[in-house]
Amino acid sequence: MVDTSSSSPRYHLATELVHIDSDAVKDNYNAASVPIYQTATFKTSNADGSGSEYDYSRSGNPTRTAVEVHLAKIMKAQRAFVVSTGMTALDVILRLVKHGQEIIAGDDLYGGTNRLLTYVSQYGGIKVHNVDTTSVDKVSARLDPVKTRLVLLESPTNPLIKIADIRAIVSRVHNTCPNALVVVDNTMMSPYLQNTLELGADIEYHSGTKYLAGHHDLMAGVIGCAAAAVAEQVYFVINASGSGLGPFDSWLLLRGVKTLGIRMEKQQSNAMLIAAFLEAQGFRVHYPGLKSSPQYELHRSMSSGPGAVLSFETGDVALSERVVESARLWGISVSFGCINSLISMPCKMSHASIPAEVRKQRHLPEDLIRLCVGIEHPDDLISDLASALTKAGVEVKAKD
Ligand SMILES: *Cc1c(COP(=O)(O)O)cnc(C)c1O
Repeated sequence: MVDTSSSSPRYHLATELVHIDSDAVKDNYNAASVPIYQTATFKTSNADGSGSEYDYSRSGNPTRTAVEVHLAKIMKAQRAFVVSTGMTALDVILRLVKHGQEIIAGDDLYGGTNRLLTYVSQYGGIKVHNVDTTSVDKVSARLDPVKTRLVLLESPTNPLIKIADIRAIVSRVHNTCPNALVVVDNTMMSPYLQNTLELGADIEYHSGTKYLAGHHDLMAGVIGCAAAAVAEQVYFVINASGSGLGPFDSWLLLRGVKTLGIRMEKQQSNAMLIAAFLEAQGFRVHYPGLKSSPQYELHRSMSSGPGAVLSFETGDVALSERVVESARLWGISVSFGCINSLISMPCKMSHASIPAEVRKQRHLPEDLIRLCVGIEHPDDLISDLASALTKAGVEVKAKD
């Protein structure tokens, strides 16, 4: 089997992102870009099939190995794996949970995560507790030394931007439940802004479809493991179920990751300006980069930035709909992490799969507008928002 364990980073992350370790894939021609090994099988000269590094692309492919080695380095993971989508990453991780064991998860989860957890609780005999993960005590209250297998966190959550104290939760979980793994969906931050394995998590996963790829031109999932034994189990599931990422998408993902640093810096600086603009208009803005954010300090203590997704409440669902539909530069679309800016109403789009009464229980405002900020010129983004607000009937305050 191919050794994909990480080498430790030597430079700043922005440099490491660009610098691909040339030993990751042996190439006869010293290609400057990792070749795409678009093949299902590999030949061998021995009758017993031994002697070559790869035999079948479900089990391993050099292009996939290249992106896995690179991501393991970036995530400071013992090993990293790439699979077909972010939801596949979660599906693989959920296979580490047996019938009768329990999962503790947040109450402001990504819609698709909520749907898959509901499925395993209905068909897999696995109990799922949804708790407010901003409270370490509420998580602790559900810990069972025997039954708890996974504690699944997102921080910041989306769209309500709730922050979980990952370090404190890790220490409670590891002290009480030796058998439990802390798993963090770190998609919102990307490995560039937050490293949850360093905060003590056992597994960090991503939707590679978002910031890692960066252009909404492929789907991928990434799983980084802190310990070799967990990584072995994850690899077993990926090989057994055939969920590994194909060669071409692995190559696209590797290309995307190289520009993660510069994209994230720009998207984040744009997002800060937009958050300040909306706050000055008097809206309730959810963004961990605002000093008014209730968990500003906690987020800062775990990450190197607030990211590029924010949300705000207008107080009126119909008004929010008019704003979203009046924006011209901002594309109406689900998802985030792309270089162009997107606007959406989570309750009607990305989170519509959560039943209305559950959305209400979880205090998800129906009028919430989510902005996923891209790399455009910030003045254009702000003036487009201002004219959408004006068209929708809001009196926009001029900048002072
Ligand atoms: C998009 C997303 C996922 C799912 O990823 P896909 O690649 O769409 O399957 C999971 N978690 C979060 C936070 C996401 O934003």
